[in-house]
Amino acid sequence: MTTSPASDELEVTVFGPGYGECLVLHLGGGEWAVVDSCVEPGSRDSVAIGYLESRGVDVRTAVKRIIVSHWHDDHVRGLAGLVARAQDAVVCVSAAFRSSEFMDAFVRADEAGARGEATRVNELGRVFDIVAERQTGPRKSRGPSAVLAQRCLYRRPQDEARPAVELTALSPSDGTFSVAARELGRIVQGRRPASFAPNDTAVVLHLKVGAYAALLGSDLEVGTDERRGWLGVLALDPPVEAAAIYKVAHHGSSTGEHARIWSDLLVPAADAIVTPFELGRVRLPTGPDLERLSAAAGRLWLTSPARPARLRRFPSAVERTMREVAREAVAIPTRRGRVTVRMGPHGVMREVDGEAMEILPKAG
Ligand SMILES: [Zn+2]
Repeated sequence: MTTSPASDELEVTVFGPGYGECLVLHLGGGEWAVVDSCVEPGSRDSVAIGYLESRGVDVRTAVKRIIVSHWHDDHVRGLAGLVARAQDAVVCVSAAFRSSEFMDAFVRADEAGARGEATRVNELGRVFDIVAERQTGPRKSRGPSAVLAQRCLYRRPQDEARPAVELTALSPSDGTFSVAARELGRIVQGRRPASFAPNDTAVVLHLKVGAYAALLGSDLEVGTDERRGWLGVLALDPPVEAAAIYKVAHHGSSTGEHARIWSDLLVPAADAIVTPFELGRVRLPTGPDLERLSAAAGRLWLTSPARPARLRRFPSAVERTMREVAREAVAIPTRRGRVTVRMGPHGVMREVDGEAMEILPKAG
């Protein structure tokens, strides 16, 4: 990147090295937000830190919001370190927790605290600890902020130097919140929680900077319940303003696809950016996914290429074990991949880095 965005420009940068996703958003006026976190190979630091610092941004003061879209391993690596660094950022998390996340964040962390242990069970517990410590320390901060659909997470009015900005959540819905609460009730009763997938709680965001808007789909899927998932987003009233940049939901999977995302939430010929997900035999997006997306988008970008299948073949027993331990498995991102799309009164700028690429529609 040769230049930084101007004060009146919306910029969306998506990192997706093959396993992991991180979005860095310019909110105009030199203010930034980060959604989720992933790390480079051999590093423990969030890609957002290195990227912003290479652009001359002071992470401690210029990052105003850190949004954790959901607590899936591919979206939270390096997150606690980022939260520790970005002292002025309010951390925003889905108001709907899965039971396992709730246990990690509040129960195990409390038990560890009672035992005087400094280390925490996981990224989620560490993030909550950092935020809690700040509330009593010299730099008091609010948060974590609970996110529900239609809640505004950041707003700045227009002034002489800067455009207006509005960062609004489109999910999780009230319906998702009540399902999550019911799950916690089952846990309290000592019953097994009903199946509630990690992606169900995902936070979809709508960012508007001046006249330009982006839709950031996290890993939200469509499902069948019209009060939840993308059906819940599409039912929002009032509807949101159509966006020109789309971070495609759930790594381009068909389960995150709905025709009305394109017709109702996006302008015609929007720029769409996909991050791959590769773990064991699971590989997204598939070839058909890319065909479908390139037909729907104005321009389609993939943050890193699909790995050839033969490199990922393991003996079946190993594969089975990998699937069983998938939540804890250490998948190593192997390629850098970044796509940046910038929009403002001066036009549109697009840039790819590393092995990121544009996917062209099939001829004819
Ligand atoms: Zn994901």
